[in-house]
Amino acid sequence: MSNDNVEKVIIIGSGPAGWTAAIYAARANLSPLVFAGRPKSIPTTLLPGGQLMLTTEVENYPGFPHGVTGPKLMAHFEQQAVRFGTRIVTDKGLNPDVSNPDDGHNYSYHDCKRVDLSKHPFVVYGEDDNERRAHCVIIATGAMANWLGLKNEQRLAQSGGGVSACAVCDGALPVFRDKPLGVIGGGDSAVEEATYLTKFASKVYMIHRRDALRASKIMADRAKSNQKIEFLWNKTVVDVLGDKMISGVRLKDTATGKEFDQPLGGLFMAIGHTPATAFLEGQLALDAKKYIKLKDPYRSTTSVEGVFAAGDCVDSVYRQAVTAAGMGCKAAIDAERWLGENGIE
Ligand code: NAP
Repeated sequence: MSNDNVEKVIIIGSGPAGWTAAIYAARANLSPLVFAGRPKSIPTTLLPGGQLMLTTEVENYPGFPHGVTGPKLMAHFEQQAVRFGTRIVTDKGLNPDVSNPDDGHNYSYHDCKRVDLSKHPFVVYGEDDNERRAHCVIIATGAMANWLGLKNEQRLAQSGGGVSACAVCDGALPVFRDKPLGVIGGGDSAVEEATYLTKFASKVYMIHRRDALRASKIMADRAKSNQKIEFLWNKTVVDVLGDKMISGVRLKDTATGKEFDQPLGGLFMAIGHTPATAFLEGQLALDAKKYIKLKDPYRSTTSVEGVFAAGDCVDSVYRQAVTAAGMGCKAAIDAERWLGENGIE
């Protein structure tokens, strides 16, 4: 096989998993090429930098005793990856200047449109339709929050009208202080977000479509014993109300079919995440929820030899920056070993 114009490693995704894979691959002299993604219209965006770009203060990433903002943390990940020879596909070429990451970029990243993993070297198609071939591919595309899909929900979410899919990112904003807030969902995320919001809200309504929580018992008990949380069981959201700012939701009782309006000053979706793996359908084994299946849960190996995966596109359970970064490290080490075992210099 000719190695001309074949990348050793292409990394798709630029959250903690993608950049950590890039740091490790670059330090192993693999000169990785990164497709970092391009932001589209919120809320369906696949953010360059990943979900941390939607976060304000990150207080649980080790090494930052006083916290760090999500965007700043990701800018530093990127700068560290570039420092060791990572190349990023952008509209200004492959070697952007990231010397001053805190000031933002003057270039746009490129998306990966599709991949062909059926032959080796693999082919990765960028948004400019250029084909790039690679011996190894590391997929670190993350997952994005689910939405109900209601017209007014989308309108208010996109216009900053008090509808969000991330309480931890937005809940502390002054606009939500001392207001009744709603959380949709009955899983661990919904409980976690509702509990978090009680720090700021006058009251938090957990609105759930069934009469029992999916959340773990310990989390559910915590929510049930919180005086500021009230459960609205068996309710679905028919509409989100409000012009510039949310004023409430129209709810339907699934038992009686009756509709009523619940006044709210903010609404937070916690109805799960969807991994960004649609472009891998038919290429790589995915599970029922479309997360990438690992061949060995302790490694980053997938159903295709030479393709490795890391971060939230693999992990529906932990979904933390630090766990994603750890998986990115494993993927780069697995890729480096695989290249060595296959005699690819
Ligand atoms: P999840 O467990 O899938 O729960 C999603 C919730 O949203 C469910 O209650 C579901 O209702 C509801 N839902 C889904 N689609 C809906 C729709 N269209 N309309 C209304 N409601 C809808 O997701 P998650 O809470 O994000 O948790 C994901 C994983 O992360 C889980 O494994 C969880 O344990 C883990 N996690 C753990 C922690 C922690 O331990 N601290 C925190 C967060 C997440 P149904 O119940 O009726 O299906």
